[in-house]
Amino acid sequence: MIEVCEKCYNALKIGKIVEANECMICSGLLYRLDSIADEILKRLKDYEFDTFLIGSRSYGSLKALEDYLNLDDKKRLKHRFNRELSKVLARKSGKSYSTDPDVTIIYDLENPSFEVQVAPLYIYGRYKKRVRGLSQTRWICRFCNGKGCEVCNWTGKRYLSVEELITEPIREFVGGKHAILHGAGREDVDARMLGNGRPFIVEIQDPKRRKIDLKELEKIVNEFCRGKVVVSDLKFAKAKDVEFIKSAGFVKVYRAKVVFEKEVSREELEKAVEKLKEQPIHQRTPLRVLHRRADLVRVRRVYDAEIILHRGKVAVIKIVAESGLYIKELVSGDQGRTKPSLSELLGVNCWVEKLDVIEVRGGL
Ligand SMILES: [Zn+2]
Ligand SMILES: [Zn+2]
Repeated sequence: MIEVCEKCYNALKIGKIVEANECMICSGLLYRLDSIADEILKRLKDYEFDTFLIGSRSYGSLKALEDYLNLDDKKRLKHRFNRELSKVLARKSGKSYSTDPDVTIIYDLENPSFEVQVAPLYIYGRYKKRVRGLSQTRWICRFCNGKGCEVCNWTGKRYLSVEELITEPIREFVGGKHAILHGAGREDVDARMLGNGRPFIVEIQDPKRRKIDLKELEKIVNEFCRGKVVVSDLKFAKAKDVEFIKSAGFVKVYRAKVVFEKEVSREELEKAVEKLKEQPIHQRTPLRVLHRRADLVRVRRVYDAEIILHRGKVAVIKIVAESGLYIKELVSGDQGRTKPSLSELLGVNCWVEKLDVIEVRGGL
């Protein structure tokens, strides 16, 4: 006959009541909730959190016994333990139970021990990149794989990145282990990101602090970036916002300084720019990104294009484009891979000498 503690007996109405420690189901765990909660809180003492979730595992002899007894989910120790421990933990800590928690405690019922999972902290914002020559994400030197060599001047990096500039002070401020930048698209290393800035979310893993003053953080980040990058509009975000930001496909507005192989007239240029707006652009993956992107044809639109300045062999053109259109290739034609292109429409080779993103339409 099965021998159980009083608590398990009251829940299951089976077996014979014995001392708690002899309980074949909980081994007395249900009588040690206080000290278990204390241990958990001790482990979490350096972490700020408002909400928690307790999960537990049974996979061995306990699970086999419960299967044998044909217990339904609500009667299993897992369920009872989670519920009772949650109550004790809430009472002791003043924090509350949540299914979308700041911290998750996973208790191993077969081999009494637990692990703690701290939810990442997500901070949304917009960044402006005021200088050229910054990569958006960390760009490890491929000659030394980040170890440092002559090519990278012993930095291990090919370029300094927006990611390092923004995430490092944030990671430090919240006491996280690691931080990642998720951008709403990206600009080229040699392009600036101006205007209202590009939406991003920083994901900080294993954060110790959550209740932070975002105005203060903004100041700290901007001091750290020394004007190369400026962040604004910081607010707290959720995990699901990362997917939205990365896949939203916001309309972008560009300002391109274009150089022509030979002088073109204002009239010719105006006609060509008008034509860019009239038809979809068929763009095969640009040669310069072919090493990291699949070779396929994208169809994208130019919503608007406007000549801001034109003098002989040089023009500045403002282009409003669908997300995913490569502007340098829209101008150059990329050896016929982008059709139509400004070069093709003009009958004169031209290319982008300088490129700025001046607006990203959309955000969180
Ligand atoms: Zn028991
Ligand atoms: Zn190197």
